[in-house]
Order: sequence, then structure tokens, then C-alpha cells
Amino acid sequence: MISGVLERYKDFLPVNSNTPLISIGEGDTPLVKSSHLGNKIGCRSLFFKLEGCNPTGSFKDRGMVVAVAKAIEKGFDSIACASTGNTSASAAAYGAHCGLRTTLIVPKGNVARGKLAQAVAYGAHIAMVDGSFDDALEIVQELCDKHSIELVNSINPNRIEGQKTAAFEIIDDLGDAPDALFIPVGNAGNITAYWKGFKEFFDIGRSSILPVLNGYQALGAAPIVNGAPVADPKTVASAIRIGNPASWQSAVRARDESNGVIAAVSDEEILSAYRLVAEYEGIFCEPASAASIAGLLKQVEDGADYSEKIIVCVLTGNGLKDPDVANEIVPASLGEYKAELGSVEQALTKS
Ligand SMILES: *Cc1c(COP(=O)(O)O)cnc(C)c1O
Repeated sequence: MISGVLERYKDFLPVNSNTPLISIGEGDTPLVKSSHLGNKIGCRSLFFKLEGCNPTGSFKDRGMVVAVAKAIEKGFDSIACASTGNTSASAAAYGAHCGLRTTLIVPKGNVARGKLAQAVAYGAHIAMVDGSFDDALEIVQELCDKHSIELVNSINPNRIEGQKTAAFEIIDDLGDAPDALFIPVGNAGNITAYWKGFKEFFDIGRSSILPVLNGYQALGAAPIVNGAPVADPKTVASAIRIGNPASWQSAVRARDESNGVIAAVSDEEILSAYRLVAEYEGIFCEPASAASIAGLLKQVEDGADYSEKIIVCVLTGNGLKDPDVANEIVPASLGEYKAELGSVEQALTKS
């Protein structure tokens, strides 16, 4: 039997006797020790937190389950959000599971194919708008103000509450907090949530240290790094293609209080890390997720010494979400051959 994050961490979540402890199996994701990459770069204790193993394939499920449970508790029968993908997929899944009507406002041409396919399959009501994510967010806020619909975007504080459970799990798995955590940054809710989670467990003695948080934005979508919003954010990593993060200030606080950094990695660095973790670890993550690994590789290149440290890279979503990026990888060996052993053997020994 699955329990889910509401049941497992209810003492730390906004749960009362009227909150339904719904779950479709979110949380309790694997913390996998690196088999090759860690040795290659001199980090002996490198772990990957596989958030792509959540029910809809991204960490968004942790926050969504709390937001939807609270919506039901408040008596809503309808939820809505604006999203470039994973939030939509997650809202649609929990909406379907709980018999709620789910409305998604999606910026046209900005959504990875796998994510849209999920929202459609879960039966959500989808409106594509000819505008940016920020335009979509404005519309959905007005929609929820006007009608009796619960907004489940990341400005809903229950999302952050649910997402902090990933930090709890890391501490429960390792027996303490890691020395450093690497994480992609888009709307900056997740880095905010991890810091909240690490601090809460530290404060009650469940961990003896607080980790250094290192957040990575994409170079073409790096408002926090630049110190100014980006009007037209551009990156291959659609999940972090955000020009004006909702949780900007709290991400800066997480960075400063943890003595970490929020820095940028290029699309080339992201795609290179995306391929490395698939090829060397057997872990296929979203391009956005690979920003965490790209950040670690960059720090090591710049001389950071993590040889004696325990490091966790958060891999936020599953690689199958974005088949178009995956299909651009040049295959190691692939061709068409006659359907006979001889010609295939010949082709394989050549490569
Ligand atoms: C949402 C998302 C991010 C960015 O997280 P924020 O909380 O917006 O910073 C990164 N990767 C994936 C796969 C996501 O779905």
C-alpha cells in the first residue's frame, strides 16, 4: 500500500482532520548513488534524487497533492493553473483522481509534447493562449477570482509546503542532510521549498547540518543571476524558461542563508550534462533537470573540491517528457540494414 506525502509527513504539513489524505503515489522517490559520474569528477558521494519517479514524472506532484487536498477541504470542485507543462500535467492528474474539474491555461508553442499529452489524457480542459507564461498566469488569476475555482499555481503556498518533503526524504535516506544540494531554478519555488524543509528538520534535530544550496538557471533565462527580469526568456530547458520567478526573494534568501550560489549554465552545458547522466548512469532526465548536474560540473571545472563531501543533485523530471529534445541526440549507431545477422554484425563491428 502506498501512503504518499500527506500521510507520511502530515505532522509537518498543513493537514487537519478535514484534510483528505489523497495520494497517487507521490514522494518516496529514489536517492540513487552515482555509479560513474561521481568518480569521473572526483565526488565520491554523489547522489541523484529521482523526482522523475513521481506519478506524473516530476516533483510537481508533491506540492500539487497538498494544494488539491486543501482545495477539496475548502469545498472547491474546480481547480485551475497556468503552466508551461509539468504543473499542468500534475494538476490534471490530481484533478482526475479527485473528480475535480481542471482548467489549464497554457502558453501556445511553449509546452513540451509529453506534458501536453498527459494533460489531454487526464481529461483536463485546456485553453491555449497566444501569449507568454506571465500572460497565462494573469488570465488564470482573474478567472479564479471571478469564479469559484482554486488556483493551484506556485503562488499557492500549499505547493511549497508539499515540495519541502523532498528535503525530508533526503535526510531520512542519508541519516543527515548532505553537504551540498544542486538544483535547477525556474520559478524558484523548489529551491525555496528545499531550504524550508532542510531548516525544519534541522530545527527539530533530525539533521545536524544545513546544506549549501546551489541553484542553476539557464543562461538565456537567468533573471535572478542578472538581478532583473528577462522579457523574452530562451532556453532548450522549457521547465526553467521563466523570466520573472514567483519565488524570487525567497530563493535569494535560501541562497544567502545557505552560503550557496544561484548561477547560470548555457544550453550546451545543460545538454551535455543531460547526455552524460543518461549514458553514464542510466538516468534519463528532463533537460531542465540536467541544469543541476551542469552546475556541479562547472563548479568542479572551476576548482571546487567535493571529494570529501556528500552531494545531491535533484533531477526534477523524467526525460520522456520532452521527446523532441531527446530525438536531437545523435545516435551512437543506428541505421537500416538487411534483416539478416551478417549485415547487422558487419555494421556493428564497424562502429
Ligand atoms: C518546475 C520545474 C523546474 C523548476 O522548478 P521551480 O520550482 O519553478 O524553480 C525544474 N525542472 C522541472 C522538470 C520542473 O518541472
